[in-house]
Amino acid sequence: PKYQSVSLIVGVTGIVGNSLAEILPLSDTPGGPWKVYGVARRPRPQWNTDHPIEYIQCDISDSDETRTKLSGLQDVTHVFYVTWANRTTELENCEINGKMFKNVLDVVITNSPNLQHVSLQTGLKHYLGPFELLGKVAHDPPFHEDLPRLDAPNFYYTLEDILFESVKQKEGLTWSVHRPGLIFGFSPYSMMNLIGALCVYVAICKHEGAPVKFPGSKESWDCYSVCSDADLIAEQHIWAAIDPYAKNEAFNISNGDVFKWKHFWKVLCENFEVEDGGFDERMSLVETMKDKEGVWDEIVREKGLLATKLEDVAAWWFVDMILGGKCMLDTMNKSKEHGFLGFRNSKSSLISWINKMKGYKIVP
Ligand code: NAD
Repeated sequence: PKYQSVSLIVGVTGIVGNSLAEILPLSDTPGGPWKVYGVARRPRPQWNTDHPIEYIQCDISDSDETRTKLSGLQDVTHVFYVTWANRTTELENCEINGKMFKNVLDVVITNSPNLQHVSLQTGLKHYLGPFELLGKVAHDPPFHEDLPRLDAPNFYYTLEDILFESVKQKEGLTWSVHRPGLIFGFSPYSMMNLIGALCVYVAICKHEGAPVKFPGSKESWDCYSVCSDADLIAEQHIWAAIDPYAKNEAFNISNGDVFKWKHFWKVLCENFEVEDGGFDERMSLVETMKDKEGVWDEIVREKGLLATKLEDVAAWWFVDMILGGKCMLDTMNKSKEHGFLGFRNSKSSLISWINKMKGYKIVP
């Protein structure tokens, strides 16, 4: 056959979906040559069209639509599940996310006889608890994969349980779970994209001649932080999809180094040629950026950027939450012990994603 492996990326315009869509079609990607299907809810955005994949617009929360749009795919060998839905309470999150995942798995397991592996992305909230209980139930970091589940509702647990049950339906079908922390990547459609939002924040400050102040807490300014490069996460997904030592296991995934925001803030400012405004006092970007839609539209027009809506490219709530929190370190020991030795230099990672934001004309 022309292709050795056939992937279905669910959430292909997301922060890791977009990296998978870029890496899987490359001629030297392990397990290849790969044929790639990619599913997302909205029409294909312009910045995703560089990737040679078959794009399928489908709302996977709708079981009829999922059956109609995905049952024709009968050659899928690997599923990469990199999507989620965000509701008000964690119980609602469990329900909607469970439904979406099950809709996809039911259709693919029934219709693709050569299905071999399902790779599920969750995250460090596995150890932290849901957003609504942040700081209340978390394990003591650094987090490792052997820690028991917390006694609190968590849609990641729902997804895992559906995964464990679903693979039983087909002999030999394997799984892996991937748990990134804060992701550094590129996706103007991501619900949580810190670097993207920070680039927009700096652009707005620069445009208004305002000082570029770190909006987070003193703790997060000073403490050691870790992050997970989206391309590195994609590499771990692909490794787990094809390496026998990675089967039926959950893995943390982070870059393998530490950084401090007080150092990275300087890097961010340098890359936009603005003065580093430093840390002053904690502020909420949800508050201070609340009426900036018009300013953003003006910047987009003036600088000839790709048309975007501020609410799409800047999730202020996420910046407030991440930079307001304390350090959440994980360990990569298990992943390394199983043979995944990938890493990233987080400073180079930061700069490369800023450049990608500029290269695709999302920010000036
Ligand atoms: P994302 O928000 O970047 O992308 C979501 C993708 O799914 C998009 O392509 C979107 O179009 C698609 N999608 C959303 N709803 C859909 C629907 N109903 N039907 C079809 N497609 C739909 O996703 P992400 O941030 O990579 O999230 C994947 C997992 O990673 C989540 O469990 C998330 O909690 C976790 N995670 C994310 C981060 C982060 O910084 N972004 C950090 C740690 C863990």
